[in-house]
Amino acid sequence: MKTQSVRGTYDLYGEAKRKTKQVTRMAESVVEKYGFEEIETPIFEFTEVFARNLGDTSDIVTKEMYCFEDRGGESLTLRPEGTAGAIRAFVSNGMQQNLPLKLYYQGPMFRYERPQKGRQRQFTQFGVELLGADVPQADVEVIAMAYEFLEKLGLQGQVVVEVNSLGDEESRNAYRTKLVEYLRGHYDELSDDSKARLERNPLRILDSKEECDKAIVENAPLYADSLNDKSKEFFKKVLEGLDKLGIKYRINNRLVRGLDYYSHTVFELVTDKLGAQGTVLAGGRYDGLVAQMGGGDVAGIGWACGVERLAMLLDKPIENERPVAIIPVGEDVNDAALEIAQKLRLSGLKVEQGYSGNMKKRMIKANKINARLAVIVGSDELAKGEVVVKNLDNGEQKNVSLKNLAEELK
Ligand code: ATP
Ligand code: MG
Repeated sequence: MKTQSVRGTYDLYGEAKRKTKQVTRMAESVVEKYGFEEIETPIFEFTEVFARNLGDTSDIVTKEMYCFEDRGGESLTLRPEGTAGAIRAFVSNGMQQNLPLKLYYQGPMFRYERPQKGRQRQFTQFGVELLGADVPQADVEVIAMAYEFLEKLGLQGQVVVEVNSLGDEESRNAYRTKLVEYLRGHYDELSDDSKARLERNPLRILDSKEECDKAIVENAPLYADSLNDKSKEFFKKVLEGLDKLGIKYRINNRLVRGLDYYSHTVFELVTDKLGAQGTVLAGGRYDGLVAQMGGGDVAGIGWACGVERLAMLLDKPIENERPVAIIPVGEDVNDAALEIAQKLRLSGLKVEQGYSGNMKKRMIKANKINARLAVIVGSDELAKGEVVVKNLDNGEQKNVSLKNLAEELK
């Protein structure tokens, strides 16, 4: 049997797991404060949920999806991202009655990519979707929420907010025409992938990671010059809102995002600490997506973050609470020790008991698990209704009556 995990997948445990948990717990506590509620959707969906809605020339759909046929002959796909499934759930459960609606999700995503630092084949995303709010304040609010979340993780100063506007459909079409004209003039220098994208989805070329494309994109027409008045006004309001909340941002004219469904505001939170995998959180407005999935004219905006990428930026996870170690002196007090441990746990304390060994061995174990106190249970003290409590940091010890034990330990 092969005992290594599949390429691009990892076992998370110990400090690494504590860090990812710290990320998701912080995300939960921040977004719940803004009124977001968790939704859990299946890890696989019908392939068309992704293939039709992420855009048929996106990297995800053309080369990264894990598709398979199940025993009933259905084409299914392991979810590569969270928005399509969340919107599918929104439509199929008739949630249109409750707008505006604020949802968040978390869990594994799957993409067949070339594994490297910060790029895995199974990774975790935490994301939010705000549905039914088509005003710029909504954009400001979700960006502010992302900003607060990263700040609370202690990453202020390490990440920058980059924003751009793709405008409405009219602006997008105007820009598209200009861009195609420009790119046709450089057709021979484009990568093969980009040549193929030129007719079907030229915007995607702005997002290309190929060096030859990047050089051409450098001088491409600017998106800002193609925005109509309505789109300009919307973007202006978003930026003013960010200014008011004191959120520092950088306008990035080349930011387009990889998926077809975006319009108006797009944004990324970027760090320079993870090399090419610098984007830790990304999102934007997707006003046409719900309609495209048959759910009517419902505006949407959201973001998703890569939990492992964020965890890699944390210096140290929050320390686990230090336990109290219960140490029975001899076989005859084992049962009493077990009972004491259980009572202390029920009173809210974190308690560990060594399962075997003499007192000395158990003391060594207690230090190894970083216990703050040892409760030494001996038969003589027990007869008087007492135990010995030893402070493992300074070695001080004293007798404590069993009645007051929980209080004393707290
Ligand atoms: P990239 O440009 O790095 O490929 P993307 O545009 O494909 O990113 P999104 O689809 O926007 O990424 O996903 C949102 C976030 O999820 C990313 O910003 C990143 O933090 C994380 N992410 C995306 N793909 C991976 C992956 N393969 N491994 C780990 N994290 C990922
Ligand atoms: Mg990608």
